[in-house]
This record gives sequence, structure tokens and C-alpha cells, in this order.
Amino acid sequence: SVVIEGLHKAYGSLEVLKGISLTVGAGQVVCLIGPSGSGKSTLLRCVNLLETPQQGRITIGDFDVTDPEADVDRMRRHVGMVFQQFNLFPHLSVLENCTVAQVKVLKRDRAEAERIARGNLERVGLAEKADGFPDQLSGGQQQRVAIARALSMDPSLMLFDEPTSALDPETVGDVLAIMRNLAAEGMTMLVVTHEMEFARDVADKVVFMDGGVVVEEGPAAEVIGNPREPRTQAFLSRVL
Ligand code: ATP
Ligand code: MG
Repeated sequence: SVVIEGLHKAYGSLEVLKGISLTVGAGQVVCLIGPSGSGKSTLLRCVNLLETPQQGRITIGDFDVTDPEADVDRMRRHVGMVFQQFNLFPHLSVLENCTVAQVKVLKRDRAEAERIARGNLERVGLAEKADGFPDQLSGGQQQRVAIARALSMDPSLMLFDEPTSALDPETVGDVLAIMRNLAAEGMTMLVVTHEMEFARDVADKVVFMDGGVVVEEGPAAEVIGNPREPRTQAFLSRVL
């Protein structure tokens, strides 16, 4: 599980997160929605310490991420992150993209790392692309490789930041299908998304953020289907 309590983050005088509290139970999927600039990416980046929050506490399982003594590398090993821009290594093959960190960070031997990578490429439907390079793949396929790469580290938590926003419409469905499978397999997931249908179908909980605070949260059917707060209603009427 992930527990976030009273999180504050500012860039200079710009307060981006103003006391965010939020829980993702083990095996749960929480979808984070909200307008541009509301702090969604910043929140995700704080969870794996790509940003350092000024105040508040984040724990992943029994691991206190915000403890100044925390072993950042150890924590990152358990957290997979998938970005809008896939950030694959362009000079490495698909298979190598999925093995480098296993060998370097987890110290797995190459044969085992390749076995695990091939298993995860199979899982995302791209086993036959293992020897290809990122620029030979569609955006949707690159994003599926990014997911396979993250899964190859055996994460206990997956963070997704608008994983389908940069994709051609016809490839979005494949990526969402993989995320649905992951959710069904019990992966703990925190997902920033504009895909309201995905959120409605898959999320155990939807959190609406605006202006650096959580405005409303609850079951997807309530937050998306029957929002209480005027700000949530206004946002949904723009995106639905
Ligand atoms: P979007 O839906 O457009 O991705 P978001 O909800 O993810 O938006 P963030 O990227 O978290 O929003 O940004 C929140 C605010 O913080 C914005 O005003 C942004 O300009 C600002 N911000 C983000 N990163 C930095 C940074 N490194 N330095 C300064 N300001 C930043
Ligand atoms: Mg963002």
C-alpha cells in the first residue's frame, strides 16, 4: 500500500501541492484526475523521489520514502514508473531496454534477466519485437515496452503518468488493455489519466485534484458518475 499524508511541494514561491493526503491500498488501482497544472505529475514524482517534498510523509508498504535516511535506490527498485513520453533508450534493442536495469541494479545475471524480459514482452504482446529498436515501433508499442521494462524489475507499485496521452488513438486501446490486465492480476497502481472510461471501469478509487489539493475522492461511480463538488462537476463537463 501507499500512504501519503500532508504532502507539500513548492517550486520557489509557487505552491504546487498544498497538503495532499491519499491512500492506495495493496492491490488497488487509484486514478488521479484533474486539470492541467493541478499538481498530478508533481505528486507522482514525489512518490518515487524524483522530487523532494518540503513537508509530509509518504510510505510504500513499511518503507518511509520521505525519511531523509531512506535508501532511495532500494525504494526505486520497488516502484515502476511509466511516463507520457516512453523514455526508452533509443540505442538499445527492445530486449536490452528490458534487461539493463535488471543487471545493473538488481545484479541479475544476463540469462535470467533476458528470460524475465522475454516473459514480460510476451505479457505485453511484443515477444516478436525483442530484437527490434524503439524507433522501429509505433508509439503504442513503445509504451508497451516501457511497461514490460518496468515490470521486469518486479515492482510492488506501478506509477503511470498519462501513459496514453501521447499516443495515436488507434494504439491507446492496446495500452489500456495491458493496464487492465495488470490491475486484474492485483498490481498496486497509481494512475494519472484522462481516460474516464478506464477510470470508471478499473479504478477502486478516483481522486480529483485541483490547485494542489484533493477536492473530491471516492468510488469511480460516485466521483465520475455523480460528483458532489462544483469544481469536479465543471472539470468533468469539460472532459466527458
Ligand atoms: P498536466 O495535466 O498538464 O500534466 P499536472 O497536474 O501534472 O498538469 P504538474 O506538472 O504537477 O501539473 O505541475 C503543477 C504546477 O507546477 C504547474 O504550475 C507547473 O508549471 C509547476 N511545475 C512543475 N514542475 C516544475 C518545476 N520543475 N519547476 C517549476 N515549476 C514546476
Ligand atoms: Mg502532468
